Amino acid sequence: TAMTFAKRQGRNHLHFFKRSEENSQRVDVHLRNHFQQAIDNEKLALYYQPIIDLQSGAIVGAEALMRWQLDDGSFIPPDEFIPMAEATGQIIPASEWAIEQACQDLKLLLEKREHMSVSVNLSALQFSRANFFEQIIETIKTHKLSNENLELELTESILMDDSNHAIKLIERFRNAGVAMSIDDFGTGFSSLSYLKKLPVNKLKIDRAFIQDIVSKSSDEAIVRGILAMARQLNMDVVAEGIETAEQAIRLTELGCGYGQGYYFAKPKPLTELLKDLD
Ligand code: C2E
Ligand code: MG
Ligand code: MG
Ligand code: MG
Repeated sequence: TAMTFAKRQGRNHLHFFKRSEENSQRVDVHLRNHFQQAIDNEKLALYYQPIIDLQSGAIVGAEALMRWQLDDGSFIPPDEFIPMAEATGQIIPASEWAIEQACQDLKLLLEKREHMSVSVNLSALQFSRANFFEQIIETIKTHKLSNENLELELTESILMDDSNHAIKLIERFRNAGVAMSIDDFGTGFSSLSYLKKLPVNKLKIDRAFIQDIVSKSSDEAIVRGILAMARQLNMDVVAEGIETAEQAIRLTELGCGYGQGYYFAKPKPLTELLKDLD
């Protein structure tokens, strides 16, 4: 069985999780039960981070990011509960809720903007489930949305279990008009060779390459390379984690189409995103 790591935020040790049931006692049982209660009592929320057209400055979409808020108002960060939920399988019901919620929210966003997309993060576990494609398409239909308004974000880990299955599934989604992007691009280990085989239409360059793009010429060179390659492959590019005006300007000069980051906006509740669109 595949091993997944989870790095607990703010601590230096790694926890090892196995996906199989017999090893699930390695998971922090308290956290797992607590998360189950959050799913059951609808204590999860989606926050939205705007995605910006770097040329025009307009909001063209938003990424849905899961939030788990405790009764005292504090948040447990996704980096802490998502890997745990992937290890226990709880990511499945949590994500079903998230896709449903995202479609509901998208409906409201589209009342303000005709062209607006919402992107949802997927985990490898969902991708290997039977009927996953049908389920997503059905949810889109139920909410009277068009497939073009939903975007699914994948990480390279999706390809690790069964890449043939993953490629076929990505193809089905693309043929149906659903946008597919590779998240955290550049942080995986086989970035270039598999990209050719992947029918995705967008790359999201990881924050690690954006952070020092102004001061480190090697990082700028990497981003230039990714942009040139994406152009050849007809893919859109989003730069993640833009925190300064200088980074935004440099990326625009380099021809990067889209950006996302604290410089533009932090993830926020739907009501606030709706106000941004007024
Ligand atoms: P991600 O999909 O790469 O999401 C981007 C993360 O970067 C978000 O963290 C966002 O708040 C953060 N970020 C955005 N702009 C900046 C910036 O300018 N500076 C810095 N330092 N950070 C920035 P968040 O919300 O904590 O999410 C962390 C990860 O958790 C996500 O990374 C994604 O992998 C996972 N995740 C979140 N929601 C879901 C979900 O619904 N399903 C699944 N499967 N994974 C999720
Ligand atoms: Mg993402
Ligand atoms: Mg990302
Ligand atoms: Mg990330």
